[in-house]
Amino acid sequence: MRYGFGVDIGGTTVKIAWFEESGKKLRAWEIPTVRENNGQQILPDIAAALQNFLAEQGVDRGDVIGIGVGVPGPVDSRGVVQVCVNLGWSEKDVCKELSELTGLPVKAGNDANVAAMGEYWQGSGREYNSMIMATLGTGVGGGIVVEGNLLHGSHGCGGEIGHMVLNRNETERCGCGNRGCVEQYCSATGLVRLANRRLAEDEAASALRQLEKMEAKDVFDAGKQGDAVANEILERYYACLGEFFANLCVVVDPEVIVLGGGVCKAGQVLLDGIRRGFERFCFQGVKGVKFTVAQLGNDAGSYGAFKLVLDAFG
Ligand code: ZN
Repeated sequence: MRYGFGVDIGGTTVKIAWFEESGKKLRAWEIPTVRENNGQQILPDIAAALQNFLAEQGVDRGDVIGIGVGVPGPVDSRGVVQVCVNLGWSEKDVCKELSELTGLPVKAGNDANVAAMGEYWQGSGREYNSMIMATLGTGVGGGIVVEGNLLHGSHGCGGEIGHMVLNRNETERCGCGNRGCVEQYCSATGLVRLANRRLAEDEAASALRQLEKMEAKDVFDAGKQGDAVANEILERYYACLGEFFANLCVVVDPEVIVLGGGVCKAGQVLLDGIRRGFERFCFQGVKGVKFTVAQLGNDAGSYGAFKLVLDAFG
């Protein structure tokens, strides 16, 4: 039996998991992400945690396939990060550095792409050959897998679907500096922004006006209660998501679109709404795409990270 690590580096913690080749997760734990001094300690900390684990378990290093790593920023196909603001990194060759520290093969990818790979391998994408994952949270993240291959892109920006332009007339800026990005409309934050814009249009009565600080969930809850303004906002939201996915489908033509992130807690009502919005805009040939929600939650990253190293060195 051979084994390997899946490591998902986040801004506050590093999730580490130890897998059997088959994909069975045997152990998982976290260590803090030390971002001081430009995150210089992050890779040495990870290396130490893995080395200690192997020593404690008495694992023969010849049985270790390697270490897969997800990084919260763009990672090119060689595993090099140009800049990662979340970790304080400037240019960093993650594969080379972690490999030198541990003596094990390393493969790295962007965290959203790696999470998509996790869902494709062991989650909602299991039964399909091609998949787009879209994470609707504070922002919009994504990953694209075609015939088992993750799209990293030439600059590590493959699958950065949250920064496709959805409205070239937008006046407010996205976190990336551009205007009119998908993220400004389709994230949880985007839904609240759409809601506040709608409320400012007129005086129509809505339970949403009573809220001190509106969250995405409030709009879905009010919609369920029959609040007409909330339902109007949700239809605008579904139209944005529908246009977004219709555009993606004529590029990738996936079998399934897997949705992750906090907005997915809305469940079937969201899936039905997206289907309505999608059918307004989609090219006829891609109509058969399925929409579903992610299954692995926060574990998707470590599964996908291990799958990267398994594919490269397994
Ligand atoms: Zn943007």
